[in-house]
Amino acid sequence: MAVDLAIRARDVRKEYGAVHAVDGLDLAVHRGEIYGFLGRNGAGKTTTIRMLLGLIRPTAGVVEVLGHDVAGPRREWLRRVGFLVESASAYPNLTVRENLELHRRLTGAPRRSVEEQIERLDLGAYATRRAGTLSLGNKQRLSLARALLHSPELLVLDEPANGLDPAGIVEVRELLRSAARDHGVTVFMSSHILAEVAHLADRIGIVHAGRLVEEAPRDVLAQRAREYLAGAFTEQQRQDALLTADLERYFLARTGADAEAVDRG
Ligand code: ATP
Repeated sequence: MAVDLAIRARDVRKEYGAVHAVDGLDLAVHRGEIYGFLGRNGAGKTTTIRMLLGLIRPTAGVVEVLGHDVAGPRREWLRRVGFLVESASAYPNLTVRENLELHRRLTGAPRRSVEEQIERLDLGAYATRRAGTLSLGNKQRLSLARALLHSPELLVLDEPANGLDPAGIVEVRELLRSAARDHGVTVFMSSHILAEVAHLADRIGIVHAGRLVEEAPRDVLAQRAREYLAGAFTEQQRQDALLTADLERYFLARTGADAEAVDRG
């Protein structure tokens, strides 16, 4: 049976002179899933995401998003996508509310959606602040608010946890989980931090040197990791890892994070 795909990439390549930023990448992201695109710095995550959104053109290969060829002339599909990429930052001289209002008008979202997103991303105290004066974490919240504002079917997020503090990371994790679970939104998110995708993703793809080197449901990958790592750590290293995890939980609890959300991880 053919699976309904939100994103499909076939043998996609992007070359910058001698640099093969993306080197024959295949992707199949199912509708409704949270897909974690995990890779180290320079692996090709941002380049891939920019190609998925039609912001840059692949050197070769085909990208389809929500059933449309991204290279095609009509770009209505982009209205059904919410995205966060480094370069698509807010207008620095507009306030948080004005930035969101502008996006609302461009996308035709309902009037109430601006205040809804301000509340959802906990931006109330900053609504009248110019975007250019926000902290990195609050800029990220604004970008996420904008990505979610027009109730997209698909979210494409480049490093959504960037700049957020631990409590903010847990909040955003909950928000993305709820978008997928309660509203059927497909989430494609990149990260260089394993814990970020491990907490959230249904499936994980590992990208390295512009290629997908592994792809599996999270639990399958976790099992493979356990088998691979069995015996690789000393008892002391295991104890240190557990201690760090406990301290992080305690830190989150003491700084007001939702205890249940912290427990779910
Ligand atoms: P990070 O986690 O550090 O953001 P990434 O996985 O997003 O990394 P990319 O930004 O996609 O990686 O970069 C992949 C490779 O392509 C890197 O070697 C990078 O230097 C190169 N690259 C990206 N954009 C360009 C460009 N415009 N010109 C030349 N090389 C580029």
